[in-house]
Amino acid sequence: MNSNVLKNEDITEKIIAFNLCQSYHANITKTSLYDCTRGYWNVSLENAQQCEYAFSIYKSTIKEVYKIEKWLPSEEIRRETFPNEQNESGKYGFEGKIAKKEIRDRYLEKSVENICKKGFRFKYLPIHDKNNDEVIEETKKIEKEVEPLNIDEESKKAIVNVRVNQGKFRDLLLKRYNNKCCLCDVKNKNFLIASHIKPWAKSKSKEKADIDNGFLLCPNHDRLFDKGYITFEDDGTIIISGKLEKDDMISLNVDSKMHIEQLTKGNKEYLKFHRKKVFDS
Ligand SMILES: [Zn+2]
Repeated sequence: MNSNVLKNEDITEKIIAFNLCQSYHANITKTSLYDCTRGYWNVSLENAQQCEYAFSIYKSTIKEVYKIEKWLPSEEIRRETFPNEQNESGKYGFEGKIAKKEIRDRYLEKSVENICKKGFRFKYLPIHDKNNDEVIEETKKIEKEVEPLNIDEESKKAIVNVRVNQGKFRDLLLKRYNNKCCLCDVKNKNFLIASHIKPWAKSKSKEKADIDNGFLLCPNHDRLFDKGYITFEDDGTIIISGKLEKDDMISLNVDSKMHIEQLTKGNKEYLKFHRKKVFDS
């Protein structure tokens, strides 16, 4: 895929993107571009105030990036390049300045064609993932329940596993991996386990809920992965611990030709941790 086309996950700041339509032209001055980007817009002040940056978009391409300083009602905004305009009440505009170089360089001239529909007026980015919110909510609930229990860590982990495997995290993994173990052909949902790559106990809340931090595994493969007998290279190739006996490898259905397909960028980050801290070479 063209690296000039932004994906939702490429956007790490809270942004409001404005589509300039006919107000943009090739010889537009800096001031005029700023003026037509900053307003007036029919935004909700509450939502707009959560954004750190604004994009000027023309034909799906980011033409400028501004750091937003404050939002004002249109009546209080004076745009140099629109001196005699009629104020439209109920609308808002922002004051700000061109974003610092490192932010600007990351976005300038990139395309938003995959995240903003043609003809949009303005859009909040990154696009909100409702699924992820649900998983985070559920994660917090599980933590609250397990935390005060006066039992050993191993038992806590067992409870967490049961709860995670009844929830949304597992549903999302079932969907991502087509109801099948990432390593073998086990397809019976009763045996498929949502396995955390970076262990639950070591993960921050956001990581606990991050679907990239999970594989869908059958009981054998889950146990081997969880106990550090197997891990994976960044290209998905299996690495098998020297501590696993040949006979057990056969009985537990592990062999060096196995691999996980299509690891995401996030998977690779969590696997770094797994290789270093969980895998027992
Ligand atoms: Zn399996």
